[in-house]
Amino acid sequence: MSDFNAVIANTCVNVWHKFEGKGSLRFLEKSSRTVFAGIVLRDDSETPPKFHCISIGSGTKCLPQSRLTEEGDALHDSHAEVLARRGAVRWLIEEWSRLSDQSPSGSLTKWLIRAPSGLVALKDSVSMHLYVSSIPCGDASMLALALDQDPTVAALKDSGSRSDVQEGTAVRGRDNYFAFGALRTKPGRADSMPSISMSCSDKILKWALLGIQGAVASLRFQPMYLSSIIISGVPVGNRNTAVGECERAFSPYRRLQRRMFAPSTVLRVSDSSSAFDSAWKFEPFAYHRVEIGFTDVEFPASRGDRFCNESIAWNAHGQLEILVNGRTQGSLGASKRRKLPTLSRAAIRSLLGEYNWVITREGMRYNATKQSSSAYQAARAQLMASGGPLEGWIVTQEDRKI
Ligand SMILES: [Zn+2]
Repeated sequence: MSDFNAVIANTCVNVWHKFEGKGSLRFLEKSSRTVFAGIVLRDDSETPPKFHCISIGSGTKCLPQSRLTEEGDALHDSHAEVLARRGAVRWLIEEWSRLSDQSPSGSLTKWLIRAPSGLVALKDSVSMHLYVSSIPCGDASMLALALDQDPTVAALKDSGSRSDVQEGTAVRGRDNYFAFGALRTKPGRADSMPSISMSCSDKILKWALLGIQGAVASLRFQPMYLSSIIISGVPVGNRNTAVGECERAFSPYRRLQRRMFAPSTVLRVSDSSSAFDSAWKFEPFAYHRVEIGFTDVEFPASRGDRFCNESIAWNAHGQLEILVNGRTQGSLGASKRRKLPTLSRAAIRSLLGEYNWVITREGMRYNATKQSSSAYQAARAQLMASGGPLEGWIVTQEDRKI
């Protein structure tokens, strides 16, 4: 698939260039740097296959625990991969709205089809791919970080002994480098307020198990799994190591085989676990292995020396949004009315109201709707339970609420 890695990356980077060309990315200075991600659909019903970018996101920030809101009006996590994922979910919901008026079966839009189960799925010829401009934070990037780091700083960061890491709890950011396989919160500066958002590696592992669509959309969609993750910015000489790291981080088998062993015993261990597969059975969810690919395509804002505060979010049915601290930039204008980020839970809730997802057959409200996605909830609970690959996942108040 290597020929197509560059196509997937370029499909996303071209969207960035389009906004840059329109002057929409003026906040970026020459020295600015950020992480960029996008989600691409690939349709193999034609030769050559068609590629379509459905969402992009950029950003490296998340809100500290002290600034989280329970109203769902701000994005807690503005890392690029997470914004691209939320953009893809919003795109799916809007794409669904286009098909609901049409015939109840068969091919419904260019990309979606109604499966025999009644749920909507990607067409058989369509697959979903994530592009990201650097190795996702968390478990997948620990060794790369250690190799890159000044030895003195590395020693300091790993000064805690491995026994400091409590089995079944999330490690903070980049602490304890060599606790390979551990769940981690988002990294931040050592002096910053701690975040309780989980790292992108952990979220990607969750998507490989439960799909990217989340709880509410699982009522209408079959689980939507990523087929590959294409990464740029990794020198050729480091790619073998990076593949090993990513394969461990995004596989429940390897996470379960790993925690806290030396890298040599973790990398390249057998990629199968009938024990996990037979214990974790929650139709229609099933672990989907994600292919890891690399590309030399360069994301333009990847070399500056200052991480920019702004994030961007866009999906192919919407407008570009610029976010700061999880909120729409400049949204408190003369009217003092705050414009909700379209990817916030509150905005998704109101979209679902428009599409009559909120008032369902039994008149359930959104919260109840989310709870009623019982197959998803049960599958997720089992993954986060003691001994599960997501044990130690920090569930926020907002997660509990909706
Ligand atoms: Zn991240």
